[in-house]
Amino acid sequence: MILHDGSVKPILCAALFLVLGARSWLIGAGQLTVTWLELPVHGLAVVLETPSGGVFLIDTGGAALAGGNGGPGGYDAGRDTIAPFLAGRGRTEIDGMLLSHPHGDHFGGALWLLEHWKVRTFVDNGYTGRGQTETYLKIRARAQQTAGVYLLDRIAGEKADALRSTAQKQGGNYRAVVAGDRLDWGPDLDVEVLSPPAEYLGKGADAKKVSDHGLLNQNSIVLRVQHGKNVFLFPGDCYGGSFEHHLTTTVKPEHLKATVLTAPHHGFNPGTNFPRMVSAQIVVASALADYPGNATTPYPRSPGLHAHRVFGAIGATVYVTAWHGNVRVVSDGESVKASVQRESEPWPELPKSVAK
Ligand SMILES: [Zn+2]
Repeated sequence: MILHDGSVKPILCAALFLVLGARSWLIGAGQLTVTWLELPVHGLAVVLETPSGGVFLIDTGGAALAGGNGGPGGYDAGRDTIAPFLAGRGRTEIDGMLLSHPHGDHFGGALWLLEHWKVRTFVDNGYTGRGQTETYLKIRARAQQTAGVYLLDRIAGEKADALRSTAQKQGGNYRAVVAGDRLDWGPDLDVEVLSPPAEYLGKGADAKKVSDHGLLNQNSIVLRVQHGKNVFLFPGDCYGGSFEHHLTTTVKPEHLKATVLTAPHHGFNPGTNFPRMVSAQIVVASALADYPGNATTPYPRSPGLHAHRVFGAIGATVYVTAWHGNVRVVSDGESVKASVQRESEPWPELPKSVAK
């Protein structure tokens, strides 16, 4: 077919749109959509749908003990919450999975997703040593074998097997990140790791002073995602003096300011100076309504109410998955718009022992 000069460009543009643009147009071109998923068990799972059409996970929720991770009768956030959500959004692949730290309430759905979905890249903090568990190392090993290998599925021909085998030997598309590293999550986003530092926080500390649990928490990946004027901060389960000291000594104060913040450690530990350092307009806590007390905290603890009190007092709008269901924030690069699955009216009263 011969095209006269004037029709070439529109047709080429239309073809390019079909190839490159249709996917992002369907999701919402130019927008960054971030969804904190409500989970029936304790955990955190956030889905980022990027302006260029990619889908990235920050943490993968928890798994119920009954029946084991994903076992019969058990709950698996990957299988039972994240996969149905992604499918409902028309997604068939995961461009990247980032696990902030190796605790079960953050990696609970990872293995199932790695085994059942195409996961193109896998990112963690690379930490090894005290506190690390066999369960997590199995997930990292699985990711090293599979993540990114899917990229090779598109390579047809006799070289595919050899390339796949080479990729596996080289660690697939696995990447360990520390402060100062950047991730390529598309041309519209600036994605930067603020923590942990390369030497990790408290790694040489006495186990009596820093527990295994605390060690892994404070070395969570702290991810800063900038879209135009809007900054989203994902601090995992970071808290504590050495964490705040690391941030204040390595990051310029204005670079820490965020539009939207995931409440650190589900809202249990907002931090001493951290809330004001970030000064977020919107804070989202992924938490159950309350947690049973134990010997040291003999009362039901409600991290959502705690976050509401602490961040609300300095002007933030606070959402909690236990009350609001899935929380979605959409950025157009200029402003953000939040929406919730259900309204919470009114906020429950704080238990006296928590309200102090
Ligand atoms: Zn956690």
